[in-house]
Amino acid sequence: MSNFQNILDEISGNLNTLKDRGTVASYIPELGKIDASKFGIHLIDIHKNHYTTGDSDELFSIQSISKVLTLSQAFSLIGDRLWERVDVEPSGDPFNHLSLLEMENGIPRNPLINAGAIVVCDVLVSQFKNAKEEFLSYVQEIANDPTISYDEKVAASEQQTGFRNYAAANLLKSYGNLENNVEEVLDFYFHQCSLQLSCKQLASLFYMFINRGQCQRNNTFLNIGQVKRINALMLSCGFYDEAGEFAFKVGLPGKSGVGGGIVAVLPNQFCVATWSPGLNVKGNSKLGMLALEQLTTRTDLSIF
Ligand code: GLN
Repeated sequence: MSNFQNILDEISGNLNTLKDRGTVASYIPELGKIDASKFGIHLIDIHKNHYTTGDSDELFSIQSISKVLTLSQAFSLIGDRLWERVDVEPSGDPFNHLSLLEMENGIPRNPLINAGAIVVCDVLVSQFKNAKEEFLSYVQEIANDPTISYDEKVAASEQQTGFRNYAAANLLKSYGNLENNVEEVLDFYFHQCSLQLSCKQLASLFYMFINRGQCQRNNTFLNIGQVKRINALMLSCGFYDEAGEFAFKVGLPGKSGVGGGIVAVLPNQFCVATWSPGLNVKGNSKLGMLALEQLTTRTDLSIF
């Protein structure tokens, strides 16, 4: 579809006039410093054509979007055994809520809420001597980009204020669903969340979710069945208590992060990443959601 570029330019023109861009996350102090006027979109189609607009080359903190990538690495390593420790149901709750975790005896509802992602981190910490390094290499290899790195300042900032994540990890430990020690697992969790990527790099990474598990160089990272499951989880759980709204308005599997990024995929057709740091009340990028709604409406392309 060669008119992707015109559509992206129009969307960005429309949305840049909006006064209310949401609120930048400040519960992780380092994220609160980001300029709320940033806005970028990058789309890659299945034929590897790139379409781009705005601040799509600028690095930002991908936060919870990284949960899809740790999930991919853990799932490819231990397969369906993963589902003994984390469920696959939407939670209908915010990403950092803990009430269901207690009610359901330490089995997180899904791997995309914080408690579930912490279990996935624990799996990787058990698999590797140095999970932080192995995960970073995994991401660099998928994207074919050795420059990708953690943002140590963001990781440290979250470590100092991540009280709810400490609570989640301790609760998991008390139920016997955390093999390693809380500090080590959370150190990895805070680092994965601090990964810094541009919209272009993010879309490049998620190309494997539209291309049957193969990256842009056609190396295989996931099998077809695993991609199907991860895309299903993004659709049902990628936006927490706004997953229904995202499916309703956008109609694509996707994942958001409190750094203001969103990535969404239409298998066999395109993947797209947006970045606008202002969030709505559910913690998802306000302009990003509007941009993707306009994209699927203008192109008539969604999974529905
Ligand atoms: N690192 C963030 C946290 O644990 C991730 C949350 C998010 O992006 N939704 O709170």
